[in-house]
Amino acid sequence: MNRKFMLLVCVLFFTACKVEEAPEVATGQASPEPEQLIEQTLIHNARIYTMDHGFSTASAMLFDSSGKIHNLGDNDAMLSAFPDARRIDMGGKTIIPGLIDSHAHLYGLAISLSQAQLRSTNSKEEVIRKLREHEQHLSDGDWLLGRGWDQNDWPVKEFPGREDLDAAFPDRPVWLRRIDGHAGWANSAALAMADQDLSGDWQPQGGHIHRDAEGQASGVLIDGAMELVESTVPEISEELLVASLDLALQQMVSLGLTGVHDMGVSRSVVQLYRQRIGDGAFPTRLYAFTDGAGETLDWLCENGAVEDESGRLYMRAVKLYIDGAMGSRGAALLADYSDDAGNAGLLFMPSEDMESRIDKVLACGFQVGVHAIGDRGNRVVLDALESVIMHYPDNPGRHRVEHAQTLTREDIPRFAELDVIAAMQPTHATSDMYWVEDRLGPERVLYAYAWRKLIDSKAKLALGSDFPVEEVNPMLGIYAAVTRQDVKGWPPGGWYPQEVLSREEAVRGFTLDAAYSAFMENSVGSLEDGKRADFVVLETNIFEAPVSDIPGTRILQTWIDGEVVYSLP
Ligand SMILES: [Zn+2]
Repeated sequence: MNRKFMLLVCVLFFTACKVEEAPEVATGQASPEPEQLIEQTLIHNARIYTMDHGFSTASAMLFDSSGKIHNLGDNDAMLSAFPDARRIDMGGKTIIPGLIDSHAHLYGLAISLSQAQLRSTNSKEEVIRKLREHEQHLSDGDWLLGRGWDQNDWPVKEFPGREDLDAAFPDRPVWLRRIDGHAGWANSAALAMADQDLSGDWQPQGGHIHRDAEGQASGVLIDGAMELVESTVPEISEELLVASLDLALQQMVSLGLTGVHDMGVSRSVVQLYRQRIGDGAFPTRLYAFTDGAGETLDWLCENGAVEDESGRLYMRAVKLYIDGAMGSRGAALLADYSDDAGNAGLLFMPSEDMESRIDKVLACGFQVGVHAIGDRGNRVVLDALESVIMHYPDNPGRHRVEHAQTLTREDIPRFAELDVIAAMQPTHATSDMYWVEDRLGPERVLYAYAWRKLIDSKAKLALGSDFPVEEVNPMLGIYAAVTRQDVKGWPPGGWYPQEVLSREEAVRGFTLDAAYSAFMENSVGSLEDGKRADFVVLETNIFEAPVSDIPGTRILQTWIDGEVVYSLP
């Protein structure tokens, strides 16, 4: 767990943690003074990249107590023009608009944070220590769940056993999924919960129960055997869910995210978000897509778009899927996978069904975002959009293809022609680049993760992370977009570097273009008169520093509606 995140855990769960000292932030005057007394605030002595259409910069910015920007300009002129404003000297630091992740899963992040993070643990002792830490914010009766262990990283590279957990956790059930999700490690309390007696010499279909010399389950269950314990894990408690959502939101703002487009949100999750907004515990702006064209869309269609007066929650978009993922060869391709003859992946539904679903969304007046990874999946979606859009001339448009990962040369210009936004995730390219050419071969790979070709064809991009599939930190996305390298700088020169974006384009994808893709470009996405004062103060000038500094760039402060929602300790 990194230091910042650790601190958040400590703060949020009131646990006693020792966190190493953070360096001084040169913006110490930002916090005091009760809000109601402040009429106007003048941020000065800053390098402000407004991200407006002219990519203009300023050194001072004025906003009022309602969080609206009133003026941007030069330091001296602004200081003399607004002598009565509260002044905050930014110490020459870089300011950019608040970052917006245009494709992520907030609820999924919360669920993953409700479990102990065991990735990169180096021993069983370290696992136990992390579990003890995590246990501090569980209630009685909660299972202790975790994920990410890998015995290959330990001194003794053998599967662990239930007894390794029993001493520390004799009563509370513990269930820990291995890093690849194909094995689970349980303590005796969890094994005892299984509906079946796990001892003996039988094995379940498609799985394996590891047993000791006496025929007792040793604690590790493989694949099909995992279900024996997993099916008895109770649903997450309301208390833990709320605490985990708070943690996820705090993680977002600590990484400079002032907005997120949340993909696939059910009614009950909207209810949870509203509850936390009402509690004043929802610091970011959330633009929600429904979970498909079923029940949630019916409800939305009947009641109209959600536009919460807090300015924190909007819902007027629908998420659909046409195919699966590349890693598991579930993405629908026009021709067979290069490393699996006879397999071209699968469409989740025939093209007529995609058309009728899109038609239903547009008939309700909403925006649609369709997950499409393979070149066939993308073509089916573009075809469906093309044939449906014309029937709804009043629909506001800006429909999106989520991922738009593998395209063909013929389909790339269709995004601009149809005014369809490509919502892409730069870190998917740098996560997949080690193996994806095996799947696609040397020809098709030229049209995969093809950000530059899309921009050159005049298509609009909106950038995101797809967290928790990838990491939350948008600096990693900006870095991947401008280098097409992993954080170690591999491969030298970048992976298919002809597709890199400029730093300006990459930041625009996480700010103004992300806002555009949610119809919010008139209120957020750039720092301009009349827009919301959503901005972040950066430790490093990401437009001028060596690219290798971008991933580690820390957020000194995050401001939303003219208020500090995060400050680096
Ligand atoms: Zn996603």
